[in-house]
Amino acid sequence: MPATSTEAQPCHCGSRTLWETCCAPIIRGDRAAATAAALMRSRYSAYVVEAESYLLASWHPQTRPSRVRFTNGQRWLGLQVKNTASGGVDDKAGTVEFVARYKIDGRGHRLHEVSRFERLEGQWYYLDGQHLN
Ligand SMILES: [Zn+2]
Repeated sequence: MPATSTEAQPCHCGSRTLWETCCAPIIRGDRAAATAAALMRSRYSAYVVEAESYLLASWHPQTRPSRVRFTNGQRWLGLQVKNTASGGVDDKAGTVEFVARYKIDGRGHRLHEVSRFERLEGQWYYLDGQHLN
């Protein structure tokens, strides 16, 4: 049954839990991300499924762009969360260091970034990020 296989799909973010219980409900707006790392994972998944409205909604109002552009032919291969600092359920801010891998036209790329997150009125937002080599 197609519906069942969709529900049993592992999450794009590499959490080893199911899409339907991990990032999908956050992207749909059924549930808020409890931690900065959960928000970061959901935003990676939103890039995979090109959920532009969620990417904008989870972007900090101070740094939010007017739109998100997706790269044609970009295929996301996986996410690795390397480090987190603060960003827990009782924090107001936090950082997440991650490596995201993707391919464009068969060529592999690696995005290594430290992202900053802030919580406003109980909701986590992506503030900005610094690329590392
Ligand atoms: Zn996920």
